[in-house]
Amino acid sequence: MDKLTVLIGRERIAAKVAEIGRHISEDFAGEPVVLIGVLKGATIFLADLARQITLDVSLDFIAVSSYGNAKQHSGEVKLVKDVDRSMAGSNIILVEDILDTGLTLTFIQSMLRAHQPKSLKIAALLNKVSRRTEPIRGDYVGFEIPDEFVVGYGLDFAEHYRNLPDICVLESGPESE
Ligand code: 5GP
Repeated sequence: MDKLTVLIGRERIAAKVAEIGRHISEDFAGEPVVLIGVLKGATIFLADLARQITLDVSLDFIAVSSYGNAKQHSGEVKLVKDVDRSMAGSNIILVEDILDTGLTLTFIQSMLRAHQPKSLKIAALLNKVSRRTEPIRGDYVGFEIPDEFVVGYGLDFAEHYRNLPDICVLESGPESE
């Protein structure tokens, strides 16, 4: 049986998402922004964040494969779904659930730079800075968290737990895969 312990509760998440939304609204005042969500983990954060931004917001999504069902990063990132339109001249905010090693966002960032956007920022709800192997940092970061495997608020373990309203540490399960 998996053991789940709440690490960040829903009220703290909501307050932080509102704060990030305010910062983005101030930083891009008067300009349109495109939120690009990394499927599937970022979807719930993106849905809440979009509603906290008081600008002209459009949405797009990217899918990559890297983690599978295991805890460890495979070290390889492959594009599974590209954005639907050209991002030339756009203010892109890349929305991700968690910055871990940084491999995923480094890959997506360089891919999106080829579109020649006006600006390209990263919003990551969670940051496991101790795990970073790539020289990348988020521009809008929600919470610094320890090196624990977390689920909930979009984050899964083998496609389970994405719908949990809180971010929880999963204390058993991944090792038995
Ligand atoms: P990175 O490429 O930065 O190592 O990994 C980013 C991706 O790894 C995240 O989008 C997420 O899918 C996955 N990931 C990293 N840490 C965790 C974690 O603690 N829990 C879950 N569910 N996924 C994680």
